[in-house]
Amino acid sequence: SETVERHEFGAEVGRLLDLVVHALYSDREIFLRELVANAADATDRRRFEALTNEALALPSDARVLIAPDKAARTLTISDSGIGMSKEDLAQNLGTIARSGTRAFSQALGETKGGEGEDLRPSLIGQFGVGFYSAFMVADRVTVTSRRAGADEAWTWASDGKGSYTLEPASREQAGTDIVLHLKEDADEYLESYRLDHVVRKWADNIAVPIAIRDAEGKEEAANRGTALWRKPKSEITEEQYKEFYRTVSHGFDEPWATLHWRAEGALEFTGLLFVPSMKPFMAMEDDRRSKVRLHVRRMFITDEAELLPNWLRFVHGVVDTDDLPLNVSREMLQSTPTLQKIRRAVTTRVINELSSRSKNAEKAEEYQKFFENFGSVLKEGIYEDFERRAEIAPLLRFRSSTQEGWTSLPDYVARMKPEQEAIYYLVADDVEALKNSAQLEGFRARGVEVLLLSDHVDAFWPEQLGKFEDKPLRSVTQGSADLAKLKPEGEAAEEAPPADKLVAALKLALEPDVSDVRTTDRLVDSAVVLAASGMGPDLQMQRLLRRAGR
Ligand code: ADP
Ligand code: MG
Repeated sequence: SETVERHEFGAEVGRLLDLVVHALYSDREIFLRELVANAADATDRRRFEALTNEALALPSDARVLIAPDKAARTLTISDSGIGMSKEDLAQNLGTIARSGTRAFSQALGETKGGEGEDLRPSLIGQFGVGFYSAFMVADRVTVTSRRAGADEAWTWASDGKGSYTLEPASREQAGTDIVLHLKEDADEYLESYRLDHVVRKWADNIAVPIAIRDAEGKEEAANRGTALWRKPKSEITEEQYKEFYRTVSHGFDEPWATLHWRAEGALEFTGLLFVPSMKPFMAMEDDRRSKVRLHVRRMFITDEAELLPNWLRFVHGVVDTDDLPLNVSREMLQSTPTLQKIRRAVTTRVINELSSRSKNAEKAEEYQKFFENFGSVLKEGIYEDFERRAEIAPLLRFRSSTQEGWTSLPDYVARMKPEQEAIYYLVADDVEALKNSAQLEGFRARGVEVLLLSDHVDAFWPEQLGKFEDKPLRSVTQGSADLAKLKPEGEAAEEAPPADKLVAALKLALEPDVSDVRTTDRLVDSAVVLAASGMGPDLQMQRLLRRAGR
């Protein structure tokens, strides 16, 4: 009819759909987790908006309903959530509002044929492209939605091949119906026992009630919706923790650490937090805010309360408190001192956990694994969080010129030579290059250890940190003068002839391209090295600044 509008998908959506349908075939049951999670999110959002606008109040029987229809070969997921206007439908389901798509397809390309291949399904949720997973099982999807507070409803429809349509529709109440016209090979999702199994596996901890309609039209509750974190630890099994972790993280891995505690006294709250054992494929630069969920008296309030600082954004989980009113508004979330205190306490708890694990010598390898995954994020805290800097520094791990494997700042300090004043480090793009660097010779000859830094953030934080346990951190490209105070060991100790004439000739030839030519104690085997001036920025930093066009 003439009221049907046809729109092309953005180019990125088209590419993404292609990937979703063709590359993410295994474990495709997670489409249900994604659609149920969206329905529950929409319900939570409506409840939240109703706090400040009574007209939007949820119906008392609000739930997510999963209804298979064998005759029509459709599966419908309905909610009484916030709903979507026509513009919302076009924006949320027709474009990729987030920047994750390119990174997503890149990650898929990288895992192709490799050991990451099995992990592909987990990528969907992480990249915020959950809705499109519907096309793994459906060759046509229609979404009929009515925004809470609005009178009109709209239907979005697509076969996932380049375009979608929008047309006016009717829906008695606010909310959304997602209708999947199942593919030939997706019959299993018409069976209520199969649906029940998937919901229990992936969505059991969602607080909004989820019901499945069976062949006789009866509705059965499918999720337990227990606020797991409110239970005593002794009543929770490892398996339940793991399932909950997977619900909040959209992941497939095991938690590396599970922190479950109750704070009592001046401030009362419960925390259930997880550190993943796997690095997400998504570049953690896309959205740098912590997504830890805030609940008040079990009820989900928001995942935008930034309960942890950016540099702990790899932590997933829930914080639930009785100390905030249920009708907490967005503005209040920004300003309430209670939340500030909770943030502080939660951050301290996570740091303490990392700290005690980092000190456990028996589990050093486990900790190193964690550090390889999230160390570069942690380092951001050194230049972003002045207050926590000193607590973060001992959590870091480094390669070193004298040690195998990884080492730490406290261990480095313990090995320092008696007459050594500073902690030395060298920054470059890769560790192998670092190990062979001429810059190291003088230090090696004197048995002085140098930390080898090759992370992309390493050019920035050492200067910010400045000192560790009162020892200044000094780049070897700046700290050459120090070497004169330290005695060389072995062969290199033999006196070299004076080189004044050579220096003078070189100076004449090279100035003004170099500011000075000097003899140095830094070199043993190499003849010359280019050094940063003692005052100026470190060489690696200069390179970065140059790249940035400064
Ligand atoms: P994400 O959930 O990570 O934002 P999705 O692809 O799963 O990404 O969903 C895209 C967007 O579509 C959601 O952010 C939401 O705004 C909207 N949406 C999806 N399903 C629903 C629903 N049942 N009710 C209301 N909005 C929805
Ligand atoms: Mg989603």
